[in-house]
Amino acid sequence: MSFYKLLRNNIFQLALVPGNLQNRAAGYLIRGPKNILIETGASPSNSTILSTLKTLEISPEAIDAIIVTHIHLDHAGGAGLLMQQCPRATLLVHPRGRKHLSDPAKLIDGAKQVYQDDFDRLFDPILPIPEERIQTISDGDTLDLGGGRQLQFYEAFGHARHHIIAFDSESRGIFSGDIAGVFHDRIHDRTGQPISFPNTAPTQFDPEEMNASYDLMMSLQPQCIFYTHFGMVNQAVDVLKAAKVWIPFFSETCVAYYQKNPSLDKLTAFIQKKTVAYLENENIPVDAVDIKNLEFDNRLNAQGIIAYEQRLQKK
Ligand SMILES: [Zn+2]
Repeated sequence: MSFYKLLRNNIFQLALVPGNLQNRAAGYLIRGPKNILIETGASPSNSTILSTLKTLEISPEAIDAIIVTHIHLDHAGGAGLLMQQCPRATLLVHPRGRKHLSDPAKLIDGAKQVYQDDFDRLFDPILPIPEERIQTISDGDTLDLGGGRQLQFYEAFGHARHHIIAFDSESRGIFSGDIAGVFHDRIHDRTGQPISFPNTAPTQFDPEEMNASYDLMMSLQPQCIFYTHFGMVNQAVDVLKAAKVWIPFFSETCVAYYQKNPSLDKLTAFIQKKTVAYLENENIPVDAVDIKNLEFDNRLNAQGIIAYEQRLQKK
């Protein structure tokens, strides 16, 4: 079984395995004078990353940098383990993420509370990264990839306040982490329609910041987006525009719905109904697997809306 595919401009998509779900999370390898990994997934994804490197005849010693868009565990949980195996690599992260990667005790506690008995299967181990191997990246920083190619970094909040995106000068693509939402690659492959909805998962959804991040991404005039969830889309500006329209639905309609119906199950069902109705309206066929994927996302989205509503109440 192959765990990777070559997309374009020496960018490889790597299969990560969040909760053993297939085709739901991707890491990326940029191969060149410098070899860069973007997103590690949680530690259970480690073996697929290593086996891909082996197949591509890239030794772990040849990895120069590992970038995580933010420190949520499905993006960065496996960074500590991978850094041990890639002895020359520097880990790049937003300044607010640094201390949690060098001392992951809080991340581990938080995840154990949420995932309980599933913690080991989904995340173990979460290992600390020595501080001297971590480099922080802020708005406007760049990483030289050699041969005239570079990645330019931007802060992009609205999903998490420690989130960065990377713009690749050669593909003119954005590695978007979670801030461009979730891209439904499966529906796209079948229908040609690039479908993406915003990701309002807990706990730092902020509609104003998210709007600003979508505007930032569109202002870069990207040719493609490399979504962590999941895959590459070429109609970059169109899909960003269409997804951005949904932000007020989450921040206003869903908040008002929840205030009348304070139940996670009901809010999840409400969001699910609206998203599926939208797809039907657009004549985009969905099958049972799509419905299940959407429901998985929409439950997380509902949890994030509830966290946001509770923050609004405290203000
Ligand atoms: Zn996230």
